[in-house]
Amino acid sequence: MHNDIEKILISEEEIKEKCKELGSRLTKEYEGKFPLAVGVLKGAMPFMSDILRATETYLEMDFMDISSYGGETRSSGEVKIVKDLDTKVEGRDLLIIEDIIDSGLTLSYLVDLFKYRKANSIKIVTLLDKPEGRKVDIKADVVGFKVPNEFVVGYGLDYQEKYRNLPYVGVLKPKIYGGE
Ligand code: 5GP
Repeated sequence: MHNDIEKILISEEEIKEKCKELGSRLTKEYEGKFPLAVGVLKGAMPFMSDILRATETYLEMDFMDISSYGGETRSSGEVKIVKDLDTKVEGRDLLIIEDIIDSGLTLSYLVDLFKYRKANSIKIVTLLDKPEGRKVDIKADVVGFKVPNEFVVGYGLDYQEKYRNLPYVGVLKPKIYGGE
C-alpha cells in the first residue's frame, strides 16, 4: 500500500501534533457546553477519533453518511443522505467534522440542513482545506492544514475505498489512477 504513494504531504507526526493543538482549542471554545460533534463518514473517521480524544469537554458524537453524485474525484453538489443523525439538532451547538473541503458543496448542503433543523450554533472543523477548489463561499472555523489542488489520500481519505487507513496524507503515483 505504501508503495502506491508518490509523496507524503502531511506526516503522521504532524497530524498528531495538530490534533493536540486543535483539541485544546476546542476544549476552550466549548467549555461549559455540551456540543454535538457530527462526523461526516467515512473520511472524517480517523480525524474525528483523534481530535475529539484531545478535546477535554463533555460532548456527544453522532455520524452522518452522505454521498454525492459526482465522479470519482469530484463532488457535484447533489447530495444523498445515506445515514442521517440519530440525534435531534434543534438548539444544539454543532461541530461538523470533515476530512477535506474542496468545492465546499457538501458542507454547504450540511450547513443549510442544520440551519433548517434549527441548530443553536454551527462550527466546522476540517483536517484539510483545498481553497483553490472552492465553488461556493464557505469557510471552516478550524482548519488543520491547507493542501494544494491535488487529489490526496490517507488518514480517512480514499481512492476507490482504499488508503483510508494510511496514517499520513499523501499523493498517489499517477499509474495508480491510470494517469501514466
Ligand atoms: P466538496 O463537496 O468540498 O467538493 O468535497 C468534499 C468531499 O469530496 C470530501 O469529503 C471527500 O470525500 C471528497 N474529496 C475532495 N477532495 C478530495 C481529495 O483530494 N481526495 C479524496 N480522497 N477525496 C476528496
